[in-house]
Amino acid sequence: MKDRYDVVIIGSGLGGLISANILAREGYTVCVLEKNNQYGGNLQTFVRDKTIFDTGVHYIGGLSEGQNLYQYFKYLDILDDLNLKKMDEDGFDIITFGNDQTEYKHAQGYQNFAETLIDQFPEEEKAIKSYCAKLKETCNQFPLYHLKHGKPYIENLELFEESAKEYIESLTTNKKLISVLSGSNLLYAGDGKTTPFYVHALSVNSYIESAYRCVNGGSQISKALIRKLKKFGGEAYKYKEVVAFNFDDKEIVSVTTKDGKEIKGTTFISNVDPKLTLKLIGGQKLRKSYINRVQNIESVISTFSLYIVLKPNTFKYRNKNYYHFKGENSIWTAQDYTQESWPEAYMVSMGVKKDTDQWGESITAMTYMNYDEVIPWENTFNTVAHKNDRGQTYEEFKAQKAEAFIKEIEKKFPEIRSCIQEVYTSTPLSYRDYIGNNRGAAYGYVKDVNNPLKSFVSPRTKIKNLLFTGQSLNMHGILGVTISAVITSSELVGREYLLNKILESNKEKDPQ
Ligand SMILES: Cc1cc2nc3c(=O)[nH]c(=O)nc-3n(C[C@H](O)[C@H](O)[C@H](O)COP(=O)(O)OP(=O)(O)OC[C@H]3O[C@@H](n4cnc5c(N)ncnc54)[C@H](O)[C@@H]3O)c2cc1C
Repeated sequence: MKDRYDVVIIGSGLGGLISANILAREGYTVCVLEKNNQYGGNLQTFVRDKTIFDTGVHYIGGLSEGQNLYQYFKYLDILDDLNLKKMDEDGFDIITFGNDQTEYKHAQGYQNFAETLIDQFPEEEKAIKSYCAKLKETCNQFPLYHLKHGKPYIENLELFEESAKEYIESLTTNKKLISVLSGSNLLYAGDGKTTPFYVHALSVNSYIESAYRCVNGGSQISKALIRKLKKFGGEAYKYKEVVAFNFDDKEIVSVTTKDGKEIKGTTFISNVDPKLTLKLIGGQKLRKSYINRVQNIESVISTFSLYIVLKPNTFKYRNKNYYHFKGENSIWTAQDYTQESWPEAYMVSMGVKKDTDQWGESITAMTYMNYDEVIPWENTFNTVAHKNDRGQTYEEFKAQKAEAFIKEIEKKFPEIRSCIQEVYTSTPLSYRDYIGNNRGAAYGYVKDVNNPLKSFVSPRTKIKNLLFTGQSLNMHGILGVTISAVITSSELVGREYLLNKILESNKEKDPQ
């Protein structure tokens, strides 16, 4: 470790790692401090029964040549390190409801997407085409989404005040089509009362452009970013949980880690949930009004996941995700479940290996779970780096939830139980402990059409040399967080300058 760094980054989630890469490329001395035994935050994978599972990446959009994430990753020079599998072009997301056997398809490419839906809803061509045009028009209003110069924050408040549910419902009276267009909303924890249309548009547009799975898991992205960071002289350390920020008057001079190390720096970037970052800083250095504003932003609901190891040669590999709802009425309300109705909606995704052919090896199934359900065990903490058993009652709780979830999945996939070799689970506490976020929130903070400015968190904080990055700013997801990191890094290197560099790097030809 150096005596002092230009930039100290707390947390090695995607936002922290991309910011570190950008700044190291620009000649800054950079050090990333990660509390866990693995880099990557939500990009972490884990292995059970020799099977790799993702914790927070099931598929990635915008990665075909020339598309938005492709261009960002090309600048970061990690494309050659990635091993991806393109998902089914004619139906990468399948939306299904209750006992209805029909599988409604979201296809890749706008023309294909529209034609596939028109095939299933021949009367609804006009609504489907209007929807596609609206998605594109909305995304065009976010310059960095298309690597364009322009203000990163929108001044047009109307865009933030348009409800996803209301807009989609205004397109047609066909309830089924409305549900199908809204059907992948677990992607952004869609809630009929709050979710703005732009959140829906920015999320689904990139997958309609193209959808990929990571072969052997999403940790390949963090591994590639760590390799490139080191190439540019940057440093990263695991098992370095930051427990305190140290000040000289109004500026941070260093951070202290749990193992007692002091790391000095000029600028500090926190990739940790802003609510927790402010808790670490304490009340002395910041205005109460600022702390209260951030602490009062609502966090997105958490998740309960099943990680299923399949018996060999029993369950066909599906190169697509399934979003299943108990009924169409659950589309925008699945988070408001009761004990009896849970789970009202879920997503099923399959793991893929280099040699996956017709048989699948693993399934991840994810549904909503409110943090309040795990409050009985909230005083426990359990990660690989800090093991602490949560006890028998927690195991029983998980087993009971797993059984209820499998029962629901069985209705759609009747053969599934007989294909299961082993099931593992995660709860909101797993996310809270591994990621260090508020209430195990899946995707940062709730964006609310009724109060768009409420959840706005600027990368510039009220402390001069502290910046934020990550999914609590702007948008979540691999694409959203990548753009977040570009915005954060722009605060140091300049927005126009950085975007020009990214654009320039995309003009360079790949070596043959
Ligand atoms: C269940 C689930 C499924 C998802 N599926 C997809 C998907 O299919 N496609 C997609 O694009 N996106 C998906 N996402 C979202 C995506 O994974 C995240 O938005 C993104 O990875 C978050 O990046 P981040 O930069 O905010 O960092 P985070 O992932 O939030 O990481 C923060 C890091 O900070 C570290 N940290 C915390 N406190 C400290 C401390 N005190 N000291 C040091 N380090 C600390 C943590 O250990 C962690 O490594 C999913 C998320 C979830 C939860």
